[in-house]
Amino acid sequence: MSDKKVSLDDIVSLCKRRGFIYQGSEVYGGLAGTWDYGPLGLTLKRNIMNLWWKTFVDDREDMYGVDAAILMNQKVWQASGHVDTFTDPLVECSECKSRFREDQIDTAKCPTCGTADSFAEARQFNMMFKTNVGPVDDESSVSYLRPETAQGIFTNFKNVVDSFYPDLPFGIAQQGKAFRNEISPRDFVFRSREFEQMEIEYFIDPKDWEKIFETWVNDIEAFLEQLGLPKTSVHKLEVPNEDRAHYSKRTIDFEFDFPIGRKELLGLAYRTDFDLMNIQNNSGKSMDYRPKDGSPALVPHVIEPSFGVERTLMAVLTSAYTQDEVNGEERSYLKLPVHLAPVRVAVSPLLKNKPELVAKAREVYAMLKKEYGNVMWDDNGNIGKRYRRQDEIGTPYCVVVDFDSLEDDSVTVRHRDTTKQERVKLAELVARVKE
Ligand code: ATP
Repeated sequence: MSDKKVSLDDIVSLCKRRGFIYQGSEVYGGLAGTWDYGPLGLTLKRNIMNLWWKTFVDDREDMYGVDAAILMNQKVWQASGHVDTFTDPLVECSECKSRFREDQIDTAKCPTCGTADSFAEARQFNMMFKTNVGPVDDESSVSYLRPETAQGIFTNFKNVVDSFYPDLPFGIAQQGKAFRNEISPRDFVFRSREFEQMEIEYFIDPKDWEKIFETWVNDIEAFLEQLGLPKTSVHKLEVPNEDRAHYSKRTIDFEFDFPIGRKELLGLAYRTDFDLMNIQNNSGKSMDYRPKDGSPALVPHVIEPSFGVERTLMAVLTSAYTQDEVNGEERSYLKLPVHLAPVRVAVSPLLKNKPELVAKAREVYAMLKKEYGNVMWDDNGNIGKRYRRQDEIGTPYCVVVDFDSLEDDSVTVRHRDTTKQERVKLAELVARVKE
């Protein structure tokens, strides 16, 4: 086993070569900060999102899902503070006009042209994408592509309470696109202008916040383990007072050792009643929650776990990327958990010019496909090449139909991590490739 550390280039080139992620609008020279998912990347991303949904919504009794519109009334973003304060400090080089986020560079010298002291004072740049809704282009039609999914949850708080009347504590979850006009998108999908979030607002009685916060820390850690992220690569950063938003009483950034260094993967924040009170004050609608036991009405507080899908996917790929040596040859493969692998099983006939083998392999393929869906037919190149290709995309099992299969109704199952092969009866095959 080689202990060479995975580089960002390893991941980017694998993603492009094997159909995970492509540069957005690539045929026209690209559009910075946008990415397109190919067949395998899309499936991997969905597997991650579905696991999150299953873990945090379907498997629990206290969670409700919503899917709010991306375009929202501009009052949402005025009330939430985004119009005034969702900004990053922008600096421009007086020499070459390159623009940077002030806190991402050493402003003593321009990274593009090398000129010294060419930056004036930073100005605040709002990261929301502005647009107009409807045919009239004036201030009243202004809207924004949402920079987070959370506000679509808060604005539906009252709707969910009125429809379901849940007991406190309960949560509302949402997955979906978010847009930020990042000054310098970089590091592959890590900092994109269009990305996806998975967020929960967990509504609580403030007297319970400390205990519930701890429960969330544990739940998040358990989820990260299901993704195959090594515990040693995940770090909890207790955000100090001076760096926290003024309304937050506690925030933990979960950081991960990405190939680009230790960076934020997701955040967990106790946001008090800041958001619901803003909505109440600006909409004039009460956000009161009336407990069923007759105790006094309250505006609940929230604890917010906020995951980014792209960063999660990058952490999964970083953790899974493995290099070893097989029969004296170097190989790189994705050691993905079976439940995340975009292709669970690849099926091939030993030789593709033998109709009887192809016919039998097609039967096996149909049987597995019906059971698992993400099964790939792969008869390109020789068997060795197929294994290499499937290893690279993280396929845990390769099933090969050979001449013996026609006699004994058995197939060869080859395991990705060990490269070991075993004979498995067709009657037992579906169960054998389960985990
Ligand atoms: P950063 O400090 O890295 O810009 P942030 O603190 O602004 O991130 P949040 O506003 O807390 O991020 O957003 C919650 C999550 O959404 C982040 O933890 C991250 O996973 C994801 N996220 C935020 N911005 C981006 C982006 N530009 N590209 C990809 N994911 C992002």
